[in-house]
Amino acid sequence: MAKVRIYQLAKELGMSNEELLEILDSMGVEYKSHASTLEDETAAAVKELIGEQRLAEEARKAEEARKAIPHRAPVVVIMGHVDHGKTSLLDYLRKSRIAEKEAGGITQHVGAFEVKTKGGTVVFIDTPGHEAFTSIRERGAKVADIAVIVVAADDGVMPQTREAIAHAKAAGAKLIFAANKMDLPQASLEKVYQGLMKEGIVPVAYGGEAEVLPISAKTGQGVQDLLETILITAELEDLRADPNAEATGVVLESRIDKQAGVLASLLVQQGTLKVGDYVVAGEHWGKIRAMTDSEGVRRNQTGPSTAVQVLGFSEPPSAGTAFEWVPDQVAAKEITEERRLEREAREVAPEVGRPRNIADLLRQMQGSEQKEINLILRADTQGSLEAIQQILSREQSEEVKINLLLAAVGAPSESDVLLASTANGAILSFGVTPAGSVKKMAEQKGVPLQSFRIIYELIDEVRKMVRGQREPVYKEEILGQAEVRAVFKLSSGVVAGCMVTSGKITRNADIRVLRKKQEIWKGKIHSLKRLKDDVREVAQGFECGILLEGFSDFQEGDVLEASQRVEVVQE
Ligand code: GDP
Repeated sequence: MAKVRIYQLAKELGMSNEELLEILDSMGVEYKSHASTLEDETAAAVKELIGEQRLAEEARKAEEARKAIPHRAPVVVIMGHVDHGKTSLLDYLRKSRIAEKEAGGITQHVGAFEVKTKGGTVVFIDTPGHEAFTSIRERGAKVADIAVIVVAADDGVMPQTREAIAHAKAAGAKLIFAANKMDLPQASLEKVYQGLMKEGIVPVAYGGEAEVLPISAKTGQGVQDLLETILITAELEDLRADPNAEATGVVLESRIDKQAGVLASLLVQQGTLKVGDYVVAGEHWGKIRAMTDSEGVRRNQTGPSTAVQVLGFSEPPSAGTAFEWVPDQVAAKEITEERRLEREAREVAPEVGRPRNIADLLRQMQGSEQKEINLILRADTQGSLEAIQQILSREQSEEVKINLLLAAVGAPSESDVLLASTANGAILSFGVTPAGSVKKMAEQKGVPLQSFRIIYELIDEVRKMVRGQREPVYKEEILGQAEVRAVFKLSSGVVAGCMVTSGKITRNADIRVLRKKQEIWKGKIHSLKRLKDDVREVAQGFECGILLEGFSDFQEGDVLEASQRVEVVQE
């Protein structure tokens, strides 16, 4: 190989001769002029140094770029048990906002509204309830950064509070609790604390991490503190969005208005959405003809963490669908058409990749890193629920955790199916039978759903799951051996020229370097070549070049032994 001259290397690295000479000086390399040749090792060392410097520079620039992206307002959803005050809290927040702007301001329902405080802006999703929220999540879009779980302080933690907690956690939102109705004489913050503790949530007042704010949605007491806590939580999350990016976000709602036509509420999460833009949402597309914000004001454009109602879709996209900016009508049509065809193909062939029953779910879990079984447990009475929970807690092992997304009295619901679908879990019920519509939905979404009449059959099913989750046992299988016949020092590293003497060598194999039958190194192959080509395997009787990851000290006569780990099937 021809030695490289300094000016040639400078050109290759895209720098001036002077810059390279400076680097060579700093490395203590001697030369006559920029026409001097460099030793291979020196040239390699220079390249490595430059590579490192450039990587460090790139990392610094990436961090700078991230920091240059402005913060965005947090998006908050309000959840909780029925009648605990979700709607009242939303109403209070909405009204307090109008009061500030002098009474009489018109508001427009666009799916979300902003509350401006001294500490910043908070965006509230306009509809309470966790089902809509989870179905949004289930379609793959994350909407809310924070979930405020409302718990009436006269009532305490109730079944739907538990559901709300489970759904919010599954959706990856941060949780903040609001102990509501504190204006009532029978209200007890202690009761809320106790209820949360039972769910394994420890309030800050008890030395834990969960923020629990006493409020009254009726009088407004504590609501300011709640807003401040939301903003502090958001700050820790370091939420940022680039207003210059292409607009993306989520459809919050859509409907057909007799006069206006199709109205869709969009939450912009990244970028800026402008009138005239083309967007696609699932299988529908639109050209934005007009936008209205939550104040009822016409907008020409709107940035991250804002919701607007738009005109321009030809058909209503479903709530929860992610939308994205596309350059023009051609792109919009092609993308939506592709999606329609894909869906039709899926409908003909049964969905692949989605578990169909518990056995499938197990198989799928085995392949993945997940060592957690996500379960929703339903039972006829609190007593049987507790009994099952107690037995289940003994079935967990160090390797496998049973994660109860939800344990509740009553038949499995459609909302359970959504939750299980989001969290890739299964639903087991005891002594209660799900409605036909729920069974059907579970089937459609590929959620395992089983009902039991005998507790021990249910436990057995879980045992099977745990067993299926055990760490698999591997044994080593020798694939073949190759002998080092020559050693080549190339700019890319030291290559062992080998002859495969038995079996085969595969690109992904584990390699052991043996010298005089002693193992001197163990690791992976960096590249495997036949002649000049990268290959996946080389069989007995053929020559190949092997570059290892982190070993270069070859000697002729060394033996490279290839092996792979294979799973031993247990009972
Ligand atoms: P949601 O089902 O969770 O949306 O609950 P609502 O907001 O509809 O409230 C249920 C009932 O509780 C209504 O009668 C409200 O007036 C009442 N309520 C809600 N918040 C408060 C509060 O802070 N104090 C009192 N005294 N009543 C409240």
